Amino acid sequence: NSTPRPGRVVVIGLGRFGSSLARELTAHGSQVLGIDSRAALVQRYADDLTHSAVADTTDETALRQLGVPDFQRAVVAIGTDLEASILTTALLVDFGIPHIWAKATSRQHGRILERMGAHHVVLPEHEMGERVAHLVTGRMLDYIEFEDDYAMVKTLAPAGAIGVPLGESRLRTQHGVTVVAIKRPGHDFTYATADTVVKRGDVLIVAGRTSAVETFADLS
Ligand code: ADP
Repeated sequence: NSTPRPGRVVVIGLGRFGSSLARELTAHGSQVLGIDSRAALVQRYADDLTHSAVADTTDETALRQLGVPDFQRAVVAIGTDLEASILTTALLVDFGIPHIWAKATSRQHGRILERMGAHHVVLPEHEMGERVAHLVTGRMLDYIEFEDDYAMVKTLAPAGAIGVPLGESRLRTQHGVTVVAIKRPGHDFTYATADTVVKRGDVLIVAGRTSAVETFADLS
């Protein structure tokens, strides 16, 4: 059966990273095939995932038997076993799967996976370490950096932003940041408009250049 299966994801390796990812995908409505060579792990997550299988994913025949070549999206969540990670990724690339994510445990590992043809390489430990660094030194409650030095932060409203409608607060010209959303204590987040008046204790989601949002968060 060679019909594509959009909306379905094959997750290879059900360690901490792969199992969390697979369960999150399932919770958000994706159909997930989880594969691991360890039967005990597969058994543990069998009830949480749409399909699960015990297999060595460096074995092309095993992958074909499981219908892996028909998937549009695949995640290689094998980390420590470098050889298995690389061989599995190479097979998925040979199958022509159009969206392959692969987890790397080091930058060198990541470069190899990119050269093999993985479309997205994630370095969970490195990326989380960098992200937490911004939370430790700054006053941010949460932080996400995109490419090209652009970031979004969750931060308490600084004194200068309180009591005036956002349209008059000149945050964009003075600080180079845009308030995207706002949360009153005890309420849900709502999007921010020019009429929104910020109160003490409000939590803001702010977007802008990394240095600008960092400086802004430090004002709070
Ligand atoms: P984590 O840090 O997320 O727990 P690990 O690298 O420790 O990541 O776990 C990756 C998982 O990948 C393990 O459960 C391991 O059994 C599985 N795995 C490793 N090699 C293969 C392989 N050749 N085929 C299938 N699964 C594999």
